[in-house]
Order: sequence, then C-alpha cells, then structure tokens
Amino acid sequence: MAAIRSKGSVIEMQVRRALHGAGFRYRLHRRDLPGRPDITLPKYRLAVFVDGCFWHGHECIQGHKPKSNTAYWGPKIARNMERDQINRQALEKTGWRVAIVRECTIEADIAGLIQSIPAQGSAM
Ligand SMILES: [Zn+2]
Repeated sequence: MAAIRSKGSVIEMQVRRALHGAGFRYRLHRRDLPGRPDITLPKYRLAVFVDGCFWHGHECIQGHKPKSNTAYWGPKIARNMERDQINRQALEKTGWRVAIVRECTIEADIAGLIQSIPAQGSAM
C-alpha cells in the first residue's frame, strides 16, 4: 500500500506537468501546511490536493469500497475523509484557496484548476 500513497503518484505527476506546462511555479508536500498539500502555488495562495478516489472515499466507480475486508478499509477511508475536511478547513481559515483534483475527473479538474488561477499577465 505504501506505493499507492507515496509522493509523486501518477495522477499527481499529471497535474504537475500541466501546471509546469502552463508556466506556474509550485512547491510540493509542504510540511508546514495542514494536510501537507500535494502541490502549492504560494504566489496565488493556492493549495492543490490530488486525490485518489479510493483513498479519499469519492463516490464514483473508482472510489467504490472493496467488498472484502470492509471492516478494515471502511474506518480507514472514513478517517481519511475526516482528516481531509479538517485540513482543508484549516487551510481556508488561513487564507488559502483549496483545489481538489480527483483521479476520475482529472482532465476536467486540471483544466478548471488552471483556469481558476488569476491571469498571469503576458509574462509567460
Ligand atoms: Zn472519483
């Protein structure tokens, strides 16, 4: 399981490539912020979480809970979801904007994310 949760997952890399391609600078896994956001854009005070559907209990096909071992996974995923919420609220309280990119809607989420970042001017 460690591999799934490790830094730089495939979906996270996809988001990083897109941001980089759009000319944004970001930092990764900042320990000084609640929930250690996967990607932060300090200039825009934007924290991005890249969520695997399964781990974060998303209601979609990929997020479906496994039928076996529910006693184990159920509480584990519930804890993840609870922690997600607490961390995200904490970030918002300190003036961060929180964006979530989900595995199942990654293309659309990335497009929306980039669009949501204030215009960068013509510097790029
Ligand atoms: Zn999903």
